[in-house]
Amino acid sequence: MIDIDGVPTERDLKNSAPSEDRIRRKPVALHECYQDIPCDPCVYSCPVNAITMKTLISIPEINHEKCTGCSACVAACPGIAIFMVEKKDEDGFVTLAYEFVPLPAVGELVDGLDRRGCIVCEASVSRVFSLPGIEKKTKTTLVRLRVPPEKVMEVRFFRRRVQA
Ligand code: SF4
Ligand code: SF4
Repeated sequence: MIDIDGVPTERDLKNSAPSEDRIRRKPVALHECYQDIPCDPCVYSCPVNAITMKTLISIPEINHEKCTGCSACVAACPGIAIFMVEKKDEDGFVTLAYEFVPLPAVGELVDGLDRRGCIVCEASVSRVFSLPGIEKKTKTTLVRLRVPPEKVMEVRFFRRRVQA
């Protein structure tokens, strides 16, 4: 289900979220894909078969214990509906697909945005990368943001403060 404004409900988010313990162990993928659409590249992108769907229009399920944190599904998802989250000591990280140019620079300070596009924190760009083998197929760039740890389940995009 999706609210009329297109923002996932709290219940949806809770159902697809990894546990706090899993987020603290190593990067983990989560999806925010809640519509019955015929789409499944995420399933075939995963090298360890951690993503499954009952039918082509089912909502995907990610086995967070199986996930190795490789990010391939983030790059493969055409809906920008998969994210990596991680908490390490006092830092949080969110990795997302970024389809704009120019690309942000590592170290750049940006505004972390929530699902409604509202600013929820300051973030910094910790990595800009693409995956060998995936890039040629999707040309998708991934951006890893450093955010306050309590914001990893809130930040889902960012706004640059200065355009290069
Ligand atoms: S991050 Fe990698 S291992 Fe984890 S679900 Fe996505 S493709 Fe599979
Ligand atoms: S590839 Fe993305 S949009 Fe398509 S089913 Fe998977 S998570 Fe949803």
